[in-house]
Amino acid sequence: MDQLDAVLATIEQRLSFVKTDPIDWRQLVLGFSWVVCLWESYLLLRQYPLYSKREPPPALAKYFNADVFAKSQDYGRDKAKFSAFSNFYRLVFETLQLQSSTFYPWAWDMSGRTLALVGYGPEYKISQSVVFGLLLMFISMIISLPLGIYQTFVLEEKHGFNKTTPGLYVADTIKGALLGVALGGPFLAAFLYVFDWAGDRFLPYLMTLLFTFQMVMVIIFPTFIQPLFNKLSPLPSGELRTRIEALAGKLRFPLKHLYEIDGSKRSSHSNAYFYGLPWSKHIVVFDTLIKQSKPDEVEAVLAHELGHWYYQHPTQFMLVSQLHIFTILAAFPAFRHSAPLMRSFGFSEPIAANPPAILSFLLYQMVLTPAEAILGMLLNAVSRRFEYQADRFACELPTRLKDDDMRGVGARLGRALIRLHVENLSTIWVDWLYSAYHHSHPTLTERLRALERYGGEPLDKAAKDEL
Ligand SMILES: [Zn+2]
Repeated sequence: MDQLDAVLATIEQRLSFVKTDPIDWRQLVLGFSWVVCLWESYLLLRQYPLYSKREPPPALAKYFNADVFAKSQDYGRDKAKFSAFSNFYRLVFETLQLQSSTFYPWAWDMSGRTLALVGYGPEYKISQSVVFGLLLMFISMIISLPLGIYQTFVLEEKHGFNKTTPGLYVADTIKGALLGVALGGPFLAAFLYVFDWAGDRFLPYLMTLLFTFQMVMVIIFPTFIQPLFNKLSPLPSGELRTRIEALAGKLRFPLKHLYEIDGSKRSSHSNAYFYGLPWSKHIVVFDTLIKQSKPDEVEAVLAHELGHWYYQHPTQFMLVSQLHIFTILAAFPAFRHSAPLMRSFGFSEPIAANPPAILSFLLYQMVLTPAEAILGMLLNAVSRRFEYQADRFACELPTRLKDDDMRGVGARLGRALIRLHVENLSTIWVDWLYSAYHHSHPTLTERLRALERYGGEPLDKAAKDEL
């Protein structure tokens, strides 16, 4: 504990200028917004011309017929245009919010007045903070609403993926908002309470709170939250179920439930994943994946997923996320009582002198934007490494398990990936820098080449005819 205190004291010392120097943090954050937006636009400019290519890369030419390739290029081009527009749209609102020095003080004031309506005065700081948090969430929901509607009912609709009805969309939006209030409200209150209660020694307590919250979410998500949006039903017995259960058994994967999820209710994009506690895991397969692929291909996809489990990739990501939270919280004390930070966002002197935790934390988060963008890129690099590792795991299964049934699993995985790409009309030509920033998975070409290397099995020649 003493060592932790020493480290924290050093960090605060190094960052002491935050409390004293009259830096215009608001203009700085505005500048960051522009830099991130320009950077993302630059990446789109690199990627965009690739949608005009008339043929797939040679390695894929045999799997993508002209029609599918043209459709995927069209879809990619439309998505890129939409991204460019969304970037610009968000930038306009961010600029409006940051350019005025009254937006955040107004929102804070508004929350206080709302609370006064029900008879609570400014001494109820945590309540006011929760109302403030919900107000900002509500504003950002309203701003994003047109983008979401366009994406679902125009973009996805045009390319044949949308299965969401307007009624379902409205229900989803309302449920999402209510869930935000029901979970976000108490969580935020607890978060702020720890600041008040623990004073400057908040770090270990907040880490514990955040970790507990993550664990509780892992437990309640499948039981209470997911059923609000989707129906999970046990995967019916048959070839697929038998195959998955056998594979899980051979790998000693603690499979508790095997579900099929009605992803087709909203979209025809497909997927499969697992989750749960170390001793009790659940596998979920999208009904769309089952419909689009053969049982032995779905099995290969799950062999890849179980590779993630075998190498403990989710746990590693969780450790990275704890480290991330630790770093953010460790540097926060310097910003916690920074009057210049509060002043630059237009807050009055009494608030600048003694800022509520939620305000300093929110502004601090905004200052961190560029660092978060870089971190996202690093996490994508790690994630891509994990994807290769899981692919290799699947390819090595026949030797690992000394099991003839698993022969050709690498080739099947390759076929499944191609099929997923074809069905989802995923982009095939990808700029490396664009991909490094945006993608958590290697491109299809990269993965197929790697699969041939790991498995030593060239892709099935018949694959083309089957697709
Ligand atoms: Zn994966």
